[in-house]
Amino acid sequence: MSIDGATIITGASRGIGLAIARHLAAEGHEVIGISRSQPPDSDITTYCADLADPADTERVLAEIVGRHRVLRLVNNAGIFEPASLEAATAAQLEAMVAVNLRAPMQAMQAVVPAMRAAGFGRIVNIGSRAALGKEGRLIYGATKAALAGMTRTAALELAADGITVNCIAPGPIETELFASGNPPGSEARKRFTAGIPVGRVGAPEEIAFACACFLDARAGFITGQTLNVCGGMTIGSAPA
Ligand code: NAP
Repeated sequence: MSIDGATIITGASRGIGLAIARHLAAEGHEVIGISRSQPPDSDITTYCADLADPADTERVLAEIVGRHRVLRLVNNAGIFEPASLEAATAAQLEAMVAVNLRAPMQAMQAVVPAMRAAGFGRIVNIGSRAALGKEGRLIYGATKAALAGMTRTAALELAADGITVNCIAPGPIETELFASGNPPGSEARKRFTAGIPVGRVGAPEEIAFACACFLDARAGFITGQTLNVCGGMTIGSAPA
């Protein structure tokens, strides 16, 4: 099946973004990744850019929308650094806001004109369960809460033009980013996993599946929503 228009996925070089890219490519999407490094799959068209840099972000987005009719966007690229209230620094705040919030805003701004012209668009922002509060995630959680808020306002502003904007908030998903905060085999990881209601960490493909649903042309009545894909963690902990 061929899908109308192209689909941008930021951070498609590994982890959740790569799983989304593979899932969508298999569904017939023309996938365009943005990251600093190339993905392992040579058939994923990738534009290299540093989304931490606003000028480079603007450059790459202009290049892509100049060449492709982009009707879908997944703002997936994100960075995480642990920071408690007492240890958080202004530099960390700036760094995480840049990639987790400013770049998604720029990407949405870049794709909206073609979506409005088409009277159709699908945007998915990848947030985090940490938006609801998690120790050591002071800044990261705040950027993801802000992204969910930005999703809601964008959804309202774009709804009349057939453009939906939704947020997926993953719980713990087995990627490099997750492993950096929860080293394999560590006591912390064992304790943590025991508390997950479904009894395991999630797989990147499970986020890709949810993302594909929001991107579907048939999902036009779903907008402004945040879906927690978290193994039940946002409901409660597994019984002790
Ligand atoms: P990951 O394995 O660290 O991958 C992050 C992706 O973002 C990579 O493709 C990376 O590409 C790209 N990226 C990071 N900084 C970038 C920059 N400055 N410029 C361009 N690209 C950049 O992370 P992940 O676990 O797949 O996470 C994906 C998203 O899910 C993030 O938004 C994260 O916050 C969210 N999330 C993850 C989890 C989890 O448990 N894994 C839970 C909740 C939310 P390059 O390095 O090649 O540039």
